Amino acid sequence: MRVLVTGGSGFLGSHLCDRLIGQGHDVICLDNFFTGRKQNIEHLLGNPRFELIRHDVIDPFKFEVDRIYNLACPASPPHYQYNPIKTTKTSVMGAINCLGLAKRVKARVFQASTSEVYGDPAVHPQPESYWGNVNPIGRRSCYDEGKRCAETLFFDYHRENGVDIRVVRIFNTYGPRMNPDDGRVVSNFIVQALRGQDITVYGDGSQTRSFCYVDDLIEGFLRLMEQSETVGPVNIGNPGEFTMLELAEVVLKKVGGKSKIVHKGLPADDPKQRQPDITLAKKYLKWEPKVPLEQGIEKTMEYFRGEV
Ligand code: NAD
Ligand code: UDP
Repeated sequence: MRVLVTGGSGFLGSHLCDRLIGQGHDVICLDNFFTGRKQNIEHLLGNPRFELIRHDVIDPFKFEVDRIYNLACPASPPHYQYNPIKTTKTSVMGAINCLGLAKRVKARVFQASTSEVYGDPAVHPQPESYWGNVNPIGRRSCYDEGKRCAETLFFDYHRENGVDIRVVRIFNTYGPRMNPDDGRVVSNFIVQALRGQDITVYGDGSQTRSFCYVDDLIEGFLRLMEQSETVGPVNIGNPGEFTMLELAEVVLKKVGGKSKIVHKGLPADDPKQRQPDITLAKKYLKWEPKVPLEQGIEKTMEYFRGEV
């Protein structure tokens, strides 16, 4: 098949491109390099089945493709809050452009949505049926509401125009090729520990997240895209839930060194807890994560050793 991956030079997108090329598909990687890096996909550049196109998803594009994975959007809070209006445009216009193309060429189109659609959840763990608890006017809203609007567009194009959609809600994912300056917690803690700097825990560190290793996540993407039992939304994530203090301790144990934990202010609207209910992924995709946190942290640490 010919497959378009928007955001294909980012952290998740580059791993997805690798898997698709490995399966024998032709891949078009579209990216504006806001947070993506050429080094993530440079090993694919000489491959005749791989094409790289610098383009912004807010501007229309046309390709004859069978599948579209829409991943283009900055994912870390510092990056998506850097230009919040652009973040909303990227989610909303990017979704419209992908859906318009899918409608025209009859491609199946996949949306990388997020656990952020649940906001600061009042239901725990979060099933797909939970509608969420999202602040519409806060610092995180450009991302949360942009992704919620993108989901709305996906389901309206599906109902109104019969577009063949798949929607995944991704929970915190980590692994090699995260940008060391990305600002997300796993990359921050590992990079700080490797550099012997203080580990910055925001707030008292009692807030929780559930961390999925990238290889597990991408397997879930491919299974969701190629099955026909459900269009989603389907949660993909690792139900293992950790406080940020526990995560800091795992990283310190693995990396070693003399870094100390220091506390910094908690960012606005920081969700207190997050854990995926993966009943639907198990049922429809026969998927569950395989890589435990300590093992995933080790692999990620090896990558960052060569980076920092
Ligand atoms: P990332 O920042 O590494 O990748 C995003 C990619 O999109 C980058 O290559 C960036 O340059 C590109 N991009 C951004 N704006 C663009 C635009 N306007 N036009 C074209 N390209 C643009 O982040 P990631 O972790 O790889 O996330 C990929 C997708 O998965 C995002 O949509 C994100 O919202 C979603 N997601 C990720 C996580 C996670 O934990 N990694 C969790 C939930 C959702
Ligand atoms: N966090 C932290 N130290 C850091 C970066 C993040 O304690 O250096 C916390 C952050 O406040 C949040 C959690 O880690 O509670 C996850 O943050 P991240 O930005 O990775 O993802 P998100 O908040 O979008 O889930």
